[in-house]
Amino acid sequence: MRSDYCGTLTAKDIEREVTLCGWVDRRRDHGGVIFIDLRDREGIVQVVFDPDTGEHFDLADRVRGEYVLQVTGKVRARDAATVNPNMGTGEIEVYGTQLNILNEAETTPFPLDSHHSVGEDVRLKFRYLDLRRQEMQKGFKFRSKVTNLVRNYLDDEGFLDIETPILTRATPEGARDYLVPSRTHENKFFALPQSPQLFKQLLMVSGFDRYYQIAKCFRDEDLRADRQPEFTQIDIETSFMDEDGIMAISEGMIRKIFQELKGVDLGEFPRMTFAEAMAKYGSDKPDLRIPLELVDVKDLMGGVDFKVFSGPAKDPKGRVTALKVPGGNDKLTRKQIDDYTKFVGIYGAKGLAYIKVNDKNDLDEGLQSPIVKFLPNDVRKAILDRVEADNGDLIFFGADKATVVSEALGALRCKLGEDLDLYTCEWSPLWVVDFPMFEELDDGSLHSLHHPFTAPSCSPEELKANPGEALSRAYDMVLNGTELGGGSIRIHNQSMQQSVFEALGISEEEQREKFGFLLDALKYGAPPHGGLAFGLDRLIMLMIGASSIRDVIAFPKTQSAACVMTDAPGGVDDQQLKELNIRLRKKEKPAVESKGE
Ligand code: ASP
Repeated sequence: MRSDYCGTLTAKDIEREVTLCGWVDRRRDHGGVIFIDLRDREGIVQVVFDPDTGEHFDLADRVRGEYVLQVTGKVRARDAATVNPNMGTGEIEVYGTQLNILNEAETTPFPLDSHHSVGEDVRLKFRYLDLRRQEMQKGFKFRSKVTNLVRNYLDDEGFLDIETPILTRATPEGARDYLVPSRTHENKFFALPQSPQLFKQLLMVSGFDRYYQIAKCFRDEDLRADRQPEFTQIDIETSFMDEDGIMAISEGMIRKIFQELKGVDLGEFPRMTFAEAMAKYGSDKPDLRIPLELVDVKDLMGGVDFKVFSGPAKDPKGRVTALKVPGGNDKLTRKQIDDYTKFVGIYGAKGLAYIKVNDKNDLDEGLQSPIVKFLPNDVRKAILDRVEADNGDLIFFGADKATVVSEALGALRCKLGEDLDLYTCEWSPLWVVDFPMFEELDDGSLHSLHHPFTAPSCSPEELKANPGEALSRAYDMVLNGTELGGGSIRIHNQSMQQSVFEALGISEEEQREKFGFLLDALKYGAPPHGGLAFGLDRLIMLMIGASSIRDVIAFPKTQSAACVMTDAPGGVDDQQLKELNIRLRKKEKPAVESKGE
C-alpha cells in the first residue's frame, strides 16, 4: 500500500514519486491550497494538494484530524522561506496527486498535541490514541531496540531463551500473589509468577547452563509511582559461574546498551558493600552522583543532655548521624529547612535538627542552631572536626532507630542533590554486594532480604548459630539511585536450603508442601548456579528520562491496579463461577453506628 514512511523522506528523495499511508496530524487551507501534515510512526511530512488535482483536491478538502489516508505524490523541495529546520522532513514536501481516504475519524476525546490538557485517566482510557503521539512512539521504539540488543548480546554469550509457566505455584519474592482459580481442580488455585526464579533454577538442574527470558512478572503490591502489578524482567541464570563471572556478563550487557543506544561509556562499575552503602548513603541503592555523605556521630552523643540524641546513641539499634551541606547556610532558607523537616517526617523522623556553621573557630557564638545549647563545646568541636565543616556549611542531624535515620537522611540526601542540583555526573552505576541474608522484623522473626534461595557466604553451622549476622552472596546493580537489577548465587544443596527455610521459620511440612519439588531437584545433582534479573521497564525509564513507568509500558495499569481502557478487572457471570466452584461473598455493609442504646 505504500512505498515509504512519511517521516523518513529527505532531500535525497526529491523528484521521487512516493505513496504514503498515515494519519492526518493537521490540515490547513491556505487560500485554495490544502496542506496536510501526514503522520506515521516514523514522523510527519507535509503534503500539498492544489485545485489542479480535481477530485483529489475535493477529498483533501474533506479530511479532518486523524483520518487515515493513502497519498501518492512527488517529493519536491520546499521554498526557502518555508523550510522548517525543526522537522525531520522540513526541507521537502510531497505534491499530492492522488488521495484515498482509508478511514474517517470522529473528533478524538483529546487533541493529541495538547494531551496535557486532559487528565491521565482520559489518556489511559483512550490509550491507543495517546500511543499515537510521537513522543510515546519514540519510547517504544527505544524499548524495542533495547530488547533486541539484549537478545543479541545474550545469544552471543551462549544463552538460551526458554519460556517458563505463567500458571504456576507461588514464587516468593516478598509480594502478594495474583491467584487464578482452577476449574479442573476443585478449590485449588494457580498463582501468577512473581518471577521465574524457581523455574530458572530447575533449568540449571536440567543442564541448560545459560538461560535468559524477557519475562512478565506479577506482584500484587501497593503501587507507588514507579511500580506496576505486571512488569517485565530480563531474567538470567547460569551454571558453573561465580559472582564475578555473572556480574561481568551482565555489566557488559548494560554497558553495551548504553554505548550503542546513548553513546555513553559507563566504564567499569565500582563495588560497594551493603554496610558501607547504608553507613555513607543511608540506602542500599545509593545515588553516587550526589557528593554528600552521612557521617555517624553516635559515639559523641551518649553523654549529652539532650534525649533526642542521647536516647538513640545509647540504643544498640539506634543511629545518630550528620549530613553536611557545603555552603548550605546561604543555599537553604528557613522555609526550605522547614520543608525538609516535613519531608523527613514521611520516613518517620520526628524532627530535623541542624547547625549552621557561621564561624567554626568560635564554638560559643559561631554556631547557629536551636539544639547547640544542649551540646558541650567538646562535642561541638568533635562534630565539626568529624564532618570537616567549614564556615558557611549547614549540618543536618538524624537521631532515631537506625532504620528510620538511614531512610530519612538517605532520602534527604537525594532530595538535596536534586533541589540544589549537586550532581557531579550524568550516570553513576555501581554494584552493591555483601547483603545480609535476613532482616529482622519488628516481631523478631527473620525475613529474606532477597529471596530464600540465595546462598549465604557462611557454612550451614554458622548460619544456624547466628542467622542475623550472616551475609549472602547477593549483588544488586544500581544506577543513579535506582536498583536496575539484582540476583545471587543460589543454594544448590538440599540441606543448606533446609537450613535457610528453618531460619525463616518455615516448618518442614510447609517446606515440603510449597517447595518439595525444589528440595527434590536439589538432591539429583544440582550444579552450582546463580543469576540475576533486571527490571526492563525501569531501565527504559531511566534511559529515556520518563517520569512515570506508565510511559514505557504500552498498556499500563492505574495506581489502583486497574485498566481503565478494558475496564479490567471485570465481573464474571454466574455460570463461570459455578464451573470454578466459587461463590462470591456479598460485600459486608458498613456497620451502622450505634448511638448509645
Ligand atoms: N528473582 C529475583 C527477583 O525477581 C532475581 C534473581 O534473583 O535472579 O528479584
